[in-house]
Amino acid sequence: MRFAKPSLGFILLVLSLLTAGIGASLGLGISYLRELQLARREILSDFSTKSAAFSRQLTAETLAKVPVGGSEPIDEVRNFLHQLNYTYSDSGEARLTIFRKTGQTPPIVRFSDHFLSDFPEPENDTLLGALISAAVAQNSSIVRGFGEDNTTFSGASRGIRVISGSGGTQTLGGAFPVVIGGETYYFVTQARVNPKIPGLTSLMPLRHFLPLIGIIPLFALLMFMRSRFTRRLQGLAQAMNTLNEGRYDYRLLEAGPPEMEKIHACFNSLAESLGKTTDQLHQSLTEVQIAKRQAKVAQVAKSDFLANMSHEIRTPMNGIIGTTSLLMETPLTSEQKELVQIMRTSGQSLVHLINDVLDFSKLEHDRIQLGNAPFDLEALIEETVEMFAHCAAENQLELIYFVDKRISNLIYGDRERLKQVLVNLVGNALKFTHVGEIVIMVRITTRETRSGSESIIRVTVKDTGIGIAPEHQERIFEAFTQADASTTRKFGGTGLGLAISRKLCNIFGGNLAVNSELGKGSEFFFDIPFREVPQQGKGKPHHQIENQRPLHGKTCVILTRNIALSSLIRTYCESWQMKTHLVSTLNDAVISEIIDFAPDIVIADPRDLSHESRVKELATRLIQQRIPAVFLSSIGESSIRIDEARFPFIRTLRKPVSALKLLRDTVSMVQRKNGIEIPANAFEAAASTPQGDHFAEVYPARILIVEDVIMNQKIAGMVLAKLGYTGIEFANNGRKGVERVNQGDIELIFMDLQMPVMGGLDATEAIRRNCNLPHQPVIIAMTGHALAGVRDSCLAGGMNGFVAKPISLNDVRTAIIDAVEPSNHKVPALAI
Ligand code: ADP
Repeated sequence: MRFAKPSLGFILLVLSLLTAGIGASLGLGISYLRELQLARREILSDFSTKSAAFSRQLTAETLAKVPVGGSEPIDEVRNFLHQLNYTYSDSGEARLTIFRKTGQTPPIVRFSDHFLSDFPEPENDTLLGALISAAVAQNSSIVRGFGEDNTTFSGASRGIRVISGSGGTQTLGGAFPVVIGGETYYFVTQARVNPKIPGLTSLMPLRHFLPLIGIIPLFALLMFMRSRFTRRLQGLAQAMNTLNEGRYDYRLLEAGPPEMEKIHACFNSLAESLGKTTDQLHQSLTEVQIAKRQAKVAQVAKSDFLANMSHEIRTPMNGIIGTTSLLMETPLTSEQKELVQIMRTSGQSLVHLINDVLDFSKLEHDRIQLGNAPFDLEALIEETVEMFAHCAAENQLELIYFVDKRISNLIYGDRERLKQVLVNLVGNALKFTHVGEIVIMVRITTRETRSGSESIIRVTVKDTGIGIAPEHQERIFEAFTQADASTTRKFGGTGLGLAISRKLCNIFGGNLAVNSELGKGSEFFFDIPFREVPQQGKGKPHHQIENQRPLHGKTCVILTRNIALSSLIRTYCESWQMKTHLVSTLNDAVISEIIDFAPDIVIADPRDLSHESRVKELATRLIQQRIPAVFLSSIGESSIRIDEARFPFIRTLRKPVSALKLLRDTVSMVQRKNGIEIPANAFEAAASTPQGDHFAEVYPARILIVEDVIMNQKIAGMVLAKLGYTGIEFANNGRKGVERVNQGDIELIFMDLQMPVMGGLDATEAIRRNCNLPHQPVIIAMTGHALAGVRDSCLAGGMNGFVAKPISLNDVRTAIIDAVEPSNHKVPALAI
């Protein structure tokens, strides 16, 4: 059972009453003791007075009536004994024993003995003897109290012992010497005092209780205080509640005792300041909401502006870049060619910049949606590295990449966005590196998560370039920020690339970070979740053991100055179970040593190794000794050119070194020595994207370009012509396009979106509604609107694909493949 908690007022009341009760009891107790003491003293003095008076009143005649030795009292004696009633009973208990002085032995003899109510005979005479002895010695009367143990007590303590009833003094005794008729007598009087506690009222008069009446007003006051106090507290609690409900105009009356007044004043000022703060907060909130609405409107306006500007800029840019492409195809002087090239490169930079700004704006507003299709990560890395191979060769830089073989053929993700990040990182690395190498590593690693650890792919781009000072290492990820101001002058750039890349990496589910040392180089790295595509059949050709088997146990000399490159080749060779020997310098002695050693194969990178003549000397000696060799070369490098038809054991492999190509060349050289010829396409992808003129043969189509700007028509026509398409037709607006399509033989349409008379989406709708067509054509949107959402609305409007202006050969090729074969993700079939 639960009891309600007592209120504070109630507790105060009970405590006060308790304290008052204890105080009153203590006071009453003390006064009760005092009364007892007085009562006892009264008895003592009464006993002494009466006994002394009686002994004095007794005359010789009266004494003559007292029977000698008798115990029956005469009337006088009885009356006297009745006066000594201290037992508070009707009869009382008392005894009178008279002794006479004889002068003989014993000198005192008992004369007579009288008693009331069977006053007991003392067990021995000690009591009486002691009394008489004292009286005789002092020759005067003497009164004593006796306990059961015959001990004498002082007056006060005797009283307390009597009250407590603990068997203290129970008998009063007195001896009174009296001379009667010339003879000395000793009257020994004894009286019982009842040890029972006398009644309170008999001891304490009622007046002693009168002060207790004072408690009644105290009690009333306490009750009153309690109810007032409780009411005040309840008022305060209610006021607090009101504040809690948000009514800050509620005030308490500042009256009453100073403490209460102060509390109420504090509450009032609290309510007031809360009210003010809330008003300010509401005002700020309203302002923030207005600002937010305005910002949203501005954001929409900005996005629209960006979309429109991008469209407006891209259309003329399309014209400029396209025209320069056309111009380059005409006969030009070398000076004109150079100028056109500059125009073209500048145009491309401008388009790149527009793309970056658009991307950044989209990322800022979370308008980028990542694709999640399977793609070949290794092929993507290879493709990216190939893009920069020329630039790296020109700058005499090694471009090296390594992909962990545990990474499966296909993983899920957004290939294009990943490529964008890679291109930015590799591009930066090349831009800021003057000597050394750029190494791209793709490895599987693990990272801690809340639910344990997960496998992730870590991509690292490491260079031996200028490095970044520690204080700039975080800043460079901010938009429009470069490590130092001179960078823009020296290297150009907008400072947007890393900001975009980091945002993209965050959307991938990782983060882009950097480790760098000024003057030594930088290492940028990011993680992507490892979500592999299941059931991928056999692995890549260079990971298949049967392809590597011819190399098992074979010896290989790796000859290069670049440590990163030599360790990459060594890693590959050792994974193919070859025995490797690294050589980093080349002189006559080393050449002789290699020839004497006669390895199964030599893999050599002539760059910076030694003088050209010595490299040639090595090649000649290898040819003479029929030792197979793979010579690495960079694009445009002519240090060593060997006619492979004449010297079948020497092969030239163009850098960047890929595992597949190195395996292919090493195996075919080693096997050739064994008399086994490996077909040239043995390690090639079975079906790769058709290039150049053959494209139209693989994807034949009767094409219609619907576009209002004549120059854009011309450029698109040229690009398609380059892919091998002929008989391309044009329409100037959507209506004309629809009319042409209604004739029934058009298979592929490139459709602009914004056109006079009828736009691209309306034209598409009209075409899709026409059920009389023998077959529906493939429609690819072609627009300057690069913003996210446009692509989706094109696809939702019935189109099959999308290509952004200014169009490039590659974009058109990809768009056709994607539109014709939506499931084709451009992954070559890699099985042999
Ligand atoms: P941009 O290169 O267009 O200026 P980024 O955002 O890609 O813009 O790079 C920002 C800055 O970070 C660069 O200007 C440069 O100062 C620094 N940076 C980026 N990559 C490297 C690198 N590999 N080595 C040295 N500095 C770098």
